Amino acid sequence: MRTLEQLVCPHILNMEAYSSARSEFKGKASIFLDANENTIRTTYNRYPDPLQANLKQAIEPLVQLNQEQIFLGNGSDEAIDLLMRIFCIGGQDAILTLPPTYGMYNVSASLNAIKNIEIPLDANYQPNVAAVLAAQNERTKILFICSPNNPTGNDVDLEKIEQLIEGFDGIVVVDEAYIHFSTQASCVQWIGKYPNLVVLQTFSKAWGMAGIRLGMALANAEIIQLFNKVKPPYNVNVLTQEYALGQLQDLRIFKEDVANILVEREELITQLSALKFVIKIYPSAANFLLIKVEAANQIYQYLVEQGIIIRNRSRVLLCDNCLRITVGTKQENAVLMQRLKAYSKTILV
Ligand code: PMP
Repeated sequence: MRTLEQLVCPHILNMEAYSSARSEFKGKASIFLDANENTIRTTYNRYPDPLQANLKQAIEPLVQLNQEQIFLGNGSDEAIDLLMRIFCIGGQDAILTLPPTYGMYNVSASLNAIKNIEIPLDANYQPNVAAVLAAQNERTKILFICSPNNPTGNDVDLEKIEQLIEGFDGIVVVDEAYIHFSTQASCVQWIGKYPNLVVLQTFSKAWGMAGIRLGMALANAEIIQLFNKVKPPYNVNVLTQEYALGQLQDLRIFKEDVANILVEREELITQLSALKFVIKIYPSAANFLLIKVEAANQIYQYLVEQGIIIRNRSRVLLCDNCLRITVGTKQENAVLMQRLKAYSKTILV
């Protein structure tokens, strides 16, 4: 297996990181005339803490890691992009992805001129471990696994994830954006065990903070140091850090939201399964449902005309005639179902 030093792009390994005066000095200070801020103002006139120490302190107990193992970014999308730039040389290296899966892995790869080698999931939306491991070569640096997977909604078997982490000679990223809706354990438990593992989580889904843009990469301290080296110095703004810190003081709302969303998800499953054009509702460990229907495009268009936007995934590999529906509020789901029932009555049996 290659060492971290062998996997990192040499230019990243050798580059010097941006250093701010505030991280250079040691000790206590009361007057800061180092960063050309407007010193007259008193709120939001200062740059944020580049390493978000206070916020990370509040996150530590949630993920049972210490802050040296936590990177915070402008959404987990930032972490996806930084991973590619740390490990893959444009025009030369490759990533492995398992479609159908989250679209940003491919977008970020394209943006950075990195080849994306796709090894499709099987009919149960599980990885074909042997095929994935057979596809690796000296150019494949990162394997992206999304669990629960978007857009299919299922957990990837933990056993298969572990086989991939053990067998892949590179960085394995497990994207757990939807993990809080799942009953399966998080792969964070393996961070101490596998030096090539990076787990992504986000505050955009169960935490209800998509608008503030906050995501995280969790990994061993050596990998987190690389993130800190390449990230824009002030990538998480003061408003975001403050708001998230406030929300983390009381976890009751978070827990209640998750419980309510899961109840609504089950209700939606019951209701959707009674519709005659619904062929299949895929098992979901997330806050959305993938359903196979007759004539997905028509249903999608019909809902748009009703002012309801869902995600048409019917052109995606292995998602023929599939629609992805986010679990809404009780009221939103009721309107959706009312419209779908009305649509159902218009089609011939
Ligand atoms: N991973 C997955 C699987 C997602 O579905 C999303 C958002 N749709 C993200 C990552 C990105 O999340 P964010 O940038 O909001 O943290």
